[in-house]
Amino acid sequence: MKEWKKNIRMVEPYVAGEQPQFEHMIKLNTNENPFPPSPLVTEALKNMNTEKLRLYPDTTSDILVSALAEYYNVKKNQIFVGVGSDDVLAMAFLTFFHSDKPVLFADITYSFYDVWANLYRIPYKTVAVGEDFKLHKEGYYEENGGIVIANPNAPTSLCVGRDFIEDILIHNKDSVVIVDEAYIDFGAETALPLIEKYDNLLVVQTFSKSRSLAGMRIGYAMGNEELIEALMNVKNAYNSYTMSTAAILLGAAAVKDVAYFKNNIKRIMDTREYVRAELEQMGFKVLDSKTNFLFIHHEKIKAKELFEALRGENIFVRYFNKPVIDDYLRVTIGTKEQMQVFLGFLTAYFQNPFVAKKG
Ligand SMILES: *Cc1c(COP(=O)(O)O)cnc(C)c1O
Repeated sequence: MKEWKKNIRMVEPYVAGEQPQFEHMIKLNTNENPFPPSPLVTEALKNMNTEKLRLYPDTTSDILVSALAEYYNVKKNQIFVGVGSDDVLAMAFLTFFHSDKPVLFADITYSFYDVWANLYRIPYKTVAVGEDFKLHKEGYYEENGGIVIANPNAPTSLCVGRDFIEDILIHNKDSVVIVDEAYIDFGAETALPLIEKYDNLLVVQTFSKSRSLAGMRIGYAMGNEELIEALMNVKNAYNSYTMSTAAILLGAAAVKDVAYFKNNIKRIMDTREYVRAELEQMGFKVLDSKTNFLFIHHEKIKAKELFEALRGENIFVRYFNKPVIDDYLRVTIGTKEQMQVFLGFLTAYFQNPFVAKKG
């Protein structure tokens, strides 16, 4: 083995859902929003002064931070923005998890958490979810070097109330608690009001799902001024120019279109409930969802087989080849028309006598 190879930082990467480049497909595999971003975003892009791209962007992302501060009614120095919430979360792991004690997160949750912990050599311990995938707050009462909770959780779609988060904060005054609220806008209760009461709470959200801007890469964290300052310091010790001039402008435009945002999420939540009812009719078990996706299971059909059959028709959903969840599928809510094609395929699939049934 060559000497230099011994010095390589070997990591197990996160595996993102595939991004097939077909013209005609129904893409329900990465929880993107099926609708375009606000028309104000299109307008801002058209009016963008490209001469400005000559310059480095504003390191404070002031236009975007101001828009968020106004929308959430928090101070500008309580907001940190990054290149998608993945960037914000990675930065938060690096900033706040610097203890010898293990960081705690659920055993079934967003699969990037253990990847970052390994990358930054942060000790961690997973807390088992229940049989029904529900989080157990008692699991977070032991000594720890930090806590991460995805609420609603991924890929299960289940959520907990603000009282659950507050209980964890009450039991963990000595560590930073990160609540990853990537899906919060689809009907769950945000922990945001608690940042005034608990200076160790960081709430992380994203433009990728509810604001239809996954391709622009914008995420943000809100918390006590001291947490935000610590994040800014780490960011500025790493890369001062994370947010591009375009991301700052277009992100601010998206935040300002409140009416479009509300209608966008309402359409998705309505379609979600329609799809849930249809799937239950077909015998699927569908977990409660306050997200833009459904986590589903069928007694008679193996998830992997269904995943592959759907794929054969260019309908992409997410399958996780992992213990416990390997007989479930995660299905993003698309447009009503897309979901009707998906449901139509399932109806035909169940009627086909040649389909292999379990058991
Ligand atoms: C989608 C997602 C993210 C990351 O989204 P970004 O596109 O990086 O903002 C973070 N956490 C969870 C639980 C997610 O599902």
